[in-house]
Amino acid sequence: MTAPLRLFNSLTRETETFHPIHEDEARVYTCGPTVYNYPHIGNMRAYVFADVLGRTLSWKGHRLTHVINITDVGHLTDDADAGEDKMEKMAAERAQSIWDIAQHYTEAYWADVKALNNRQPAEWTIATKFVPQMIEFAKTIADKHCYELDGGLYFDVATVADYGRLARAVTDEGEGRIEAVEGKRNAADFAIWRKTPAGETRQMEWDSPWGRGAPGWHLECSVMSGALLGFPFDIHTGGIDHREIHHPNEIAQNQAFCCTGPLDVPANSGARVWMHNNFLVERSGKMSKSAGEFLRLQLLIDKGYHPLAYRMMCLQAHYRSELEFSWDGLGAALVRLKRMVIAVEALKARHAEPVAAEGWTQLRAHDELSGMFLPLLARFDAAVSDDLNTAVGLTVLEELLALKKMNPGEVLAAVAAMDAVLGLGLLDLARADLRLAPKGAAITQAEIDDALARRKAARAEKDFATSDAIRDELAAKGVEVMDGDPLGWDWRVE
Ligand code: AMP
Ligand code: ZN
Repeated sequence: MTAPLRLFNSLTRETETFHPIHEDEARVYTCGPTVYNYPHIGNMRAYVFADVLGRTLSWKGHRLTHVINITDVGHLTDDADAGEDKMEKMAAERAQSIWDIAQHYTEAYWADVKALNNRQPAEWTIATKFVPQMIEFAKTIADKHCYELDGGLYFDVATVADYGRLARAVTDEGEGRIEAVEGKRNAADFAIWRKTPAGETRQMEWDSPWGRGAPGWHLECSVMSGALLGFPFDIHTGGIDHREIHHPNEIAQNQAFCCTGPLDVPANSGARVWMHNNFLVERSGKMSKSAGEFLRLQLLIDKGYHPLAYRMMCLQAHYRSELEFSWDGLGAALVRLKRMVIAVEALKARHAEPVAAEGWTQLRAHDELSGMFLPLLARFDAAVSDDLNTAVGLTVLEELLALKKMNPGEVLAAVAAMDAVLGLGLLDLARADLRLAPKGAAITQAEIDDALARRKAARAEKDFATSDAIRDELAAKGVEVMDGDPLGWDWRVE
C-alpha cells in the first residue's frame, strides 16, 4: 500500500522513481542564501520546498542527510558572472565589515527558517570555511578545463560534454546577460577564481596559485556538496533561476572533477536528481530587495499574520507552479490553518496523552489503527509521493479532521503522521498562538478584555444596542469579535 516516491528531475525533465544511492540514506544539497540582506519570502519558498522534500524522504523511511550552504563570499550581483560581489557591495554601502554583515543576515535567515518550522539540516556549510578545499578542487581541474585571464581563472565550458543541458540553453550564442570579458573562449565561460584587481584590496581574499582573490560562487557549491555528501549524491535543490546558470556551471565543474562523461548518465552531473522550485511572484515588485520595504517574513508578522500561514500558502501550491503572493491569499491560508488548529485542539481536549509522530513505515505496521485511517493515510502517502503534492495532502488531512465519532487518540496519531510531512506544527500550535497583534495596534489587550467584559454584561441584560456598539468600537480598532470562535475575538489582518 505504499506508493513509490516519484520526483521531477529537471535534468531529464521527467518524473522519476526515487532510489537512493546509499541504502536507506538520502543525501540532499540545497543552495542556501547569500547573506548580504534579509531573505524575502520568495527565497523562503525555496527552503520550505527543500524542507518538505526532506520531510517526505524521512516519511518514506529514508535516513536523511541534508546540507544547506550559506554563501558569504563570491556571489556577484549578476548570476551570469558580472557585477560586484554582493557581500562586498553591501559592506561598502553600510561601512561595516563583511563578517558582521554575514553574521547578522545569517541569523536573520535562521530565524525565518525556525519560524517556518523547517527542520535543521545535518549541516549548514559556510562558504568561507571551505576556501582551502575550493583551491584544491580548482587545482585538480585547472589544467584540463580552465585558463587564466587578467580577471582570474576561467572555466572553459567546451571541455565538458553537454554543457547547459540542465538549462536546455544554447552553449555559445552569447546571451546578452553574460558579461563580455576579453579573452573568454566561450561566452558562457565563468570565473572559478576571481583575482583582486591590482592596487585594490578586498575585505575577503585568499592566496591561490592564480593570485590573491576569492572563489567563484559556482565553485563553492560544487566543493561543499562534494565534500560533505560525496559525488554522486542523491538530490540537489534550488530555485528555478538556478536551473539556468548556477547549476549548469556547478554540473560542468562536477563533470570536470569526476568524470567528464556525458549527462545521459545522471550521476555524471554530481547529483542524480536536480530539483527546482518555481517562483513566488508579486505584481507590484515588492519581492525585490532593492525596493525599499520588501516582502520579508517579519513584515507579514508585523501585520499580524502568523508565519505558518505563509508555510500553508506554500503547501497549497505545487512547488513547480508559480505562486502569486497576495495579502488576501495569505489571509485565506491563515483561516485554513486556524480551522485545522481548532479541530486539533478539540481532539486534544478529548485525549490528554501525548501523541508521537510516526513515519509511514511504522504506521502501516500498527494493528490497532482502525479501518478508516489506513486508507486516508495511504491516500496522503500517494499524494506526497507524487512529486510532493502537498496541495492534495492538505485536503486529505481535512477529510481526516472532519471525521465524526472516531477515537480522538487515533485521529491525533494520524494527524501527527501527516503533519510530520507538512510541518505545520498542528499538535503544538494553540489557537491563541495564531493571534498575533499587528505592530502599532490601536488598542491594548487589557482594553480589549475590558470591552469584551462590558459587552458580555450588556448581552446578559439583553441590551443589544450597547453590545453592538462595543463590537463596532472594537472593529474600528482592528479587533473582530467572533461569537463562534473558541477565543471569541481576533485581530483583523489586512
Ligand atoms: P539567493 O539568496 O539570491 O541565492 O536566493 C536564495 C534562494 O531563493 C535560491 O534558491 C533562489 O533560487 C530562490 N529564489 C529567489 N527568488 C525567489 C522567488 N521569488 N521565489 C522562489 N524562490 C526564489
Ligand atoms: Zn549553489
